[in-house]
Parts: sequence; C-alpha cells; structure tokens
Amino acid sequence: MTIEELIRERDEAVSRAQEAEARAERFAGMLLSGISTFEGGEMRTLSWQEALYRCRADVSDLAPFRMVLSDLSRCEHGRHHGDACSGCGGASVGNAILPPGMIIGHDISGRAIIVPPKAQFASATSWKEATE
Ligand SMILES: [Zn+2]
Repeated sequence: MTIEELIRERDEAVSRAQEAEARAERFAGMLLSGISTFEGGEMRTLSWQEALYRCRADVSDLAPFRMVLSDLSRCEHGRHHGDACSGCGGASVGNAILPPGMIIGHDISGRAIIVPPKAQFASATSWKEATE
C-alpha cells in the first residue's frame, strides 16, 4: 500500500467517523427535543445537550439509592437471598424483615408499593407490578 492510499484511507475513516457523530447528534436531538423544565417560576425548553447532561446527572445521583435497594435482599449476615451463607446454614434466607407482600409505602398516585417475591427484588418494575 502506498502512502497516498494510506492517507486516502485515513481521510475516508475520519469522514465516516464525522458522519456517524453527526447522525448520533441528530438522533440525540430527536430523542431529547422538547423537554421542558420549570425553574424559578418559569417554564423553559432545554437544548438536547442540556437535557442529555441532566439525564446523566440524574442517573449518577440515583446510583447510591440503587445500592440501598440492592441491599434489601440481603440476610442479616450480608448475603443476597439464595447465595451461600454460613450464618443461615446454607442458602441465604434473604431479608426476613421485608417479607414478600409487605406494604412499605405508596407512590405519587397513592398506590401501595409492595415487596415482590425475593427472586424479583432486582427488577424495579416488580415492586410496582406487585401493587396491581
Ligand atoms: Zn445469612
């Protein structure tokens, strides 16, 4: 391969990468366009870049809560339900304080949030599905 061919390949690769980036930006713009916020008494439409930034910030803000929810399936010895636990004498019995079916709160509509079966602890929707 000659140096000219290498340069042409490089330029084509750069061009393809730029086109892909532009398509990704257009796609993000379509997904995140029209998202509004109410702050300081005023409604304002966010740019897609600002909406994306805020979505990412929201996700990282929720990470500690995700860990707390994950811990709710642990037994008093710190093992998840079903994992080997010498304290439980075999498989972990999981969280005995929150038995499946227990109402632990209510959502914004007033529907009960009910502890799902232990095998479904990791599924956020199962906590809501248990209310129906
Ligand atoms: Zn245990």
